[in-house]
Amino acid sequence: MSNIIAIVGRPNVGKSTLFNRLTESNQAIVKEVSGVTRDRIYGRGEWNGIPFSVIDTGGYVKGSDDIFEGEIRKQVEIAIDEANVIVFVVDVMTGITDLDEKVAGMLRKSKKKVFIAANKVDNTERIGLSSEFYSFGFGEIFDISAVNGSGTGELLDELVQHFDKAADMDEPDIPRVAVVGKPNVGKSSLINALTGEDRNIVTDISGTTRDAINTRYNSFGFDFMLIDTAGIRKKSKVHEDIEYYSVLRSVRAIENSDVCIFMLDATEGIQKQDLSIFYIAEKNHKGVVVLVNKWDLIEKDHKTTKEYEDKIREELAPFNDVPILFTSTVTKQRIHRTLETVMRVYENRIKRIPTSELNEVMQEVIAGNPPPSVKGKYIKIKYIQQLPTHAPAFAFFCNLPQYIGESYKRFLENRIRENWDFEGVPIRIFFRRK
Ligand code: GDP
Ligand code: GDP
Repeated sequence: MSNIIAIVGRPNVGKSTLFNRLTESNQAIVKEVSGVTRDRIYGRGEWNGIPFSVIDTGGYVKGSDDIFEGEIRKQVEIAIDEANVIVFVVDVMTGITDLDEKVAGMLRKSKKKVFIAANKVDNTERIGLSSEFYSFGFGEIFDISAVNGSGTGELLDELVQHFDKAADMDEPDIPRVAVVGKPNVGKSSLINALTGEDRNIVTDISGTTRDAINTRYNSFGFDFMLIDTAGIRKKSKVHEDIEYYSVLRSVRAIENSDVCIFMLDATEGIQKQDLSIFYIAEKNHKGVVVLVNKWDLIEKDHKTTKEYEDKIREELAPFNDVPILFTSTVTKQRIHRTLETVMRVYENRIKRIPTSELNEVMQEVIAGNPPPSVKGKYIKIKYIQQLPTHAPAFAFFCNLPQYIGESYKRFLENRIRENWDFEGVPIRIFFRRK
């Protein structure tokens, strides 16, 4: 079940501004990694308790209107393929431009629900300016101001009506495993190695896509759904381009999964695009198993694996309590081990710690190392409970939840991880007043 909103439109209409507004509540937890500026292309938001994702398909092309139609076409294709609903942003101050017409033309051919957000309606004088956009024929138009937020609530009220209500009801209730990673890390090769077919034949025709294929894997005692990353364009002229779009392309597969097999190319190490994909899995609280693939190509001595592993853990921090396996789809090294590990991570993700056991262990930890007092006030954690969520989340009930800092939270998470096996699974910790 995925609720994905895509924002499309020509440059400068306010897509990024709207993106930031819709994902506002989550910006605080976006972490900056040294040397890596995270692309603002994927974010999580929530409206009336309904979580959703937003993808900004235009994040890559900034600045002027002087862009190729082909570029816009790619953005719109991604939106049509990956999103449940599309927000087409236009600018009431400039009115309809040629590029707007082109976007509208492409969107009209798709079956996806499209909403026009007429942006920059910052004040009442500008109401009414948006009526010219009715000529696009998409129905109701939402006057908004992405900078001051007016009208965005009405837009969200409408958008949430069009999310998947009960998708995948006909799917069997078995673990869902997505194979993700940037292009050429070996995703298709892994899937072929598992299913023993050449299912994902890569054609040489530029721009060829393949559809998302979900395959039930049922052998050697394993039974799960394999979720393939949909139609990554293999042959693109612009290298960065394809990597950027591959991140957006991963969103749906990740959101529909329980555990992600996150593949890296051993000869390249971990790069920015890899991390972007990893963060999407983490933000969605999915289980993760890291495969350092093409290990057959690495010249090794007795220290190579350990050093490589340490480096990757450093890059993935703070969420680095994850299994890391060194694989080859060519020599079939550790392919079976991969599946065993995926299943262990799946079990970790649905693990429930009894409240009594949790309190017994954690109260002792807390007694030995209580939260630091703030302004002379002592913080008392009274009891702890695992919440009935899909992925592990713990509530610490206390007198002054607002005074507990990030480092103490991290400390508690680490102690939880030491006492119970949550390898491969993000953990959430909440402090609640009691
Ligand atoms: P993008 O290229 O479509 O992502 O557009 P941006 O979000 O970068 O916005 C382009 C310009 O329009 C920036 O200078 C924004 O500050 C401005 N802008 C965005 N939303 C609004 C709005 O609601 N009102 C006004 N007046 N300006 C806006
Ligand atoms: P995808 O884009 O992630 O699906 O990657 P592919 O499965 O298409 O693999 C990209 C290229 O890497 C192909 O030429 C594969 O033959 C090669 N490849 C994949 N896995 C391995 C591996 O474990 N070892 C080596 N040496 N090559 C691999």
